Amino acid sequence: MALLANRLTNLGTENAFKVGEDIQTCVDRGMDVIKFNLGAPDFRSAPHLNQVSITELEAGNSGYCDPAGIASFRQAIANHVRLSRGIDVTPDQVIVTPGAKPPIGYTFQTYVNPGDEVVYPSPGFPIYESWVTFVGATPVPIQLSEDTGFAFTAEELAAHLTERTKLIILCSPSNPTGGVLSRENLRDIANVIRDRCRPDVRIYADEIYEHILFDGQKHHSIFSEEGMPERTVLVSGHSKGFAMTGWRLGWAVLPTTDEAAIFKQLNINTISCVPPFLQEGGRAAYEDPSTIKTVSEMVTAFERRRDWVVPALNSITGVTCQLPKGSFYVFPNVAGVCDKLGIFEAYEALSSTAKRKTTPGGMLQMFLLYRYGVATMDRASFGRIGSEGQHFLRLSIANSMDDIQRGIARIKEAVDDSNGFTNFVKEERLWD
Ligand code: PLP
Repeated sequence: MALLANRLTNLGTENAFKVGEDIQTCVDRGMDVIKFNLGAPDFRSAPHLNQVSITELEAGNSGYCDPAGIASFRQAIANHVRLSRGIDVTPDQVIVTPGAKPPIGYTFQTYVNPGDEVVYPSPGFPIYESWVTFVGATPVPIQLSEDTGFAFTAEELAAHLTERTKLIILCSPSNPTGGVLSRENLRDIANVIRDRCRPDVRIYADEIYEHILFDGQKHHSIFSEEGMPERTVLVSGHSKGFAMTGWRLGWAVLPTTDEAAIFKQLNINTISCVPPFLQEGGRAAYEDPSTIKTVSEMVTAFERRRDWVVPALNSITGVTCQLPKGSFYVFPNVAGVCDKLGIFEAYEALSSTAKRKTTPGGMLQMFLLYRYGVATMDRASFGRIGSEGQHFLRLSIANSMDDIQRGIARIKEAVDDSNGFTNFVKEERLWD
């Protein structure tokens, strides 16, 4: 009998965390690493929210609580959904989770059987594909194209639906592309779903970046479209918009209270509950009017950085970069850089085992990290299936302007260093 369960071979990961080991190696060698890899705002959680939780903790609110989430927080979330999406939901449909990541796994465990088809954007948040393969479902990635601004269109969706489709994942604003689904887009997508999908097909609407939109745009949600609240698991939370990644506050609104009860049961089976004193701080994020100002200052800073970094990236030979409309990532195409540095040839020269461990983009990612102290993410980190031949990097701009400028200067230097790349491959032997 083997030590590990068979299903583990199908579990993916989030490389943004995994690359931490390589970063540590570089730091241990004395390098100064600029971290464009992690999707965490460089802002702190707001003092007025911190204070709420500190006061609660000091008052003794430190025990177990309702596994679904405390009633006042669920009510605040229901109010937020009504105000932002124009749809009434009851607190009984809301489940509080430790961050917006657990509802992904809960959704697969609740709705998806082996062999069911799951449609999801690629590039997309890697945990979607990880769960598709983990539960033995059939992956149906929609390859988003740079030429169309990485749009997830109704036409593309229609072309990927079959009788076996069980779950459709949408993410807007998107990680990693910064693409945003417009109202029109969403209306068309909803039309396709109403026309083509059985009522038991579920939509997973990942809206964790709902507060981070540029150019004065407003957030639009599939949840607001006719017939969609009955089919949609709407998910968001506090990590990104409120700069509270470490608080682990997320939530899901389920189509029915019965489905919400299953998510509650999954909480009971795993985490029991989210700490009640943290939920009080989370509630205040929606209820205290000063939060709006805090969020908008942060979004303005991200927008300023975006406006600097995109032209700077486009000025590098071999790089083309779209202008993201939301979230805090840029996703430049680096095929020209791979070509210039001889990375395609170096990749082809790797053994077949080594090839399985990386991609040309992954080799560039490691060269930038190990030789220039710039940590980025490669395309394959955002859905591997069907991504061959696509060469992108993701950079998080949730970093100070100073770090962003230093990082881009280093990348500029690196793209001219083909000797450095050749030596790097020989010296580090990262994929042997
Ligand atoms: N969904 C997307 C698209 C994300 O980018 C992330 C975090 O990077 C999450 C979900 C998970 O968020 P949390 O940290 O709240 O679990």
